[in-house]
Amino acid sequence: MRKCPKCGERISPLYFKTACKYCGADLMYYHFDERLEQDAQKAAEQEEKVKRLLNKLHIRGNKH
Ligand SMILES: [Zn+2]
Repeated sequence: MRKCPKCGERISPLYFKTACKYCGADLMYYHFDERLEQDAQKAAEQEEKVKRLLNKLHIRGNKH
């Protein structure tokens, strides 16, 4: 059973509208926002890896 992330009311799995019928919260937006946050975290981790890799390459390049 899905729950509205804003008001906590139970929402039928057969309720396919994007807005909560109790409080009007945009369910798609809430879900999407959560995913965006996870993606941003992954992207940040990836960026950190790339930076470290570039640093290594840069150090090696300087030794030449
Ligand atoms: Zn709601």
